[in-house]
Amino acid sequence: MNAGETEKLLKANEEYAKKEFPGRQPGPPSRRLAVLACMDARLTVSKLLGLKTGEAHIIRNAGGIATDDAIRSLIISNELLGTKEFAVINHTDCGMLTFKDNELAERLAKKYGRAEDASRIQFYAFSNLENNVREQVKKIKEHPLIPKDIRVSGFIYDVDTGRLRNVVYEPQVGASASLAS
Ligand SMILES: [Zn+2]
Repeated sequence: MNAGETEKLLKANEEYAKKEFPGRQPGPPSRRLAVLACMDARLTVSKLLGLKTGEAHIIRNAGGIATDDAIRSLIISNELLGTKEFAVINHTDCGMLTFKDNELAERLAKKYGRAEDASRIQFYAFSNLENNVREQVKKIKEHPLIPKDIRVSGFIYDVDTGRLRNVVYEPQVGASASLAS
């Protein structure tokens, strides 16, 4: 068992509220940004992107996949909360590269004796990281309920160096960024 982890969270939160809480912020992200990233524990998304409380939406799931639910969040982010720029972040050594959907479905089917339930879930495992990033960006860009002028970039975060590598990224004229490609 993992005894006491929840209690540690509560204790840490008490410290946060006392020492670090920046005060109440407006709901709409001040930098009009939304990030879709993998849930991997090695990505401290706000930190690695220099985002502060109140500045951006961060949507996370296994793989950083533009699932229907991630798209739902992006639509709400854009339409109701005014975000104008999206970034998709995948990363090296992603667990989603290590299995196939049907393998996981079979494993779960065996374990729980619920083959139908297991086969109904799309897990979105993938075998090519770059292609996966491109696919998610494309899916978001082509979505009929997301405006065409939204900038959608895609990156791979390197868990060995802490650096982002661009996969789908066009530098904006006048903006400064020094990214290795
Ligand atoms: Zn991952």
